Amino acid sequence: MLRKFLKEVVVIVVGKQAEEIADLLNSKRYINEFLIAKKLEITINQTRNILYKISDHGLVSSIRKKDKRKGWYTYFWKIEILKSLEFLRNILMKKIDQINYQIKSRETKEFYICERCNIEFNEENALLHNFTCNECGDIFVIRDNTKLLREFKRKLDKLSKELEFVNTEIEKEKEKIEKSKLKEIKKKEKEKQKAKKKVSKKKIIKKKVVKKETKKKPTKKAKEKSKKKKVIKKKTKKKVVKKKVKNKKLKIPQTKKKTKSSKKK
Ligand SMILES: [Zn+2]
Repeated sequence: MLRKFLKEVVVIVVGKQAEEIADLLNSKRYINEFLIAKKLEITINQTRNILYKISDHGLVSSIRKKDKRKGWYTYFWKIEILKSLEFLRNILMKKIDQINYQIKSRETKEFYICERCNIEFNEENALLHNFTCNECGDIFVIRDNTKLLREFKRKLDKLSKELEFVNTEIEKEKEKIEKSKLKEIKKKEKEKQKAKKKVSKKKIIKKKVVKKETKKKPTKKAKEKSKKKKVIKKKTKKKVVKKKVKNKKLKIPQTKKKTKSSKKK
């Protein structure tokens, strides 16, 4: 049923000659446009023209890949099933509205006909023509609408049934989309959890390493080194103190200058 509907959509948008493209585009993967051209036995330009026409209605989607050697882009296409079905549903609903309108007018208004010329007039126009045919001079007859009404009602029935089927296909497609979305969400959650586990494992390993290092008792050599370091530290402290004193001496005139300038302002 879905296949039939997708073909119907392509026929409405492009025409009967492009019907076969529907089956090719009805795929989970995007299809190379050159492959489509080859399978339909038409040129790449003809193929693209068809695809652009469908694309104008937003009923196909595409991705492009660059050919590294030749430097040009090749497009890959896929039909948008839900959008196509909704497009078809809208058209069916419009047709149903039109037929309902026709049925109503046939049931409530009178129509006149010149039987010889087979021309029909509504009541107003028949009155304007004085119920006489311009062409042959015959007098109009009231049209019997029963046949026409039967025809309209048959069409209405057919369209209503098709609309029902399209609606069930739309529901199916929506469920599919919902399911694949859920799958995607679950996948991402799993990936997140995996990433978290990895991070926490690394942290545990680091902690263990730190603990081991702190537990190590200092060896004799290390003790001697630390003693030397302490001596060096003392020496550097003295130097620092000397530097501070120098700085103080230098700073005093500087601060005075600053205060002067600030007063001026
Ligand atoms: Zn006539």
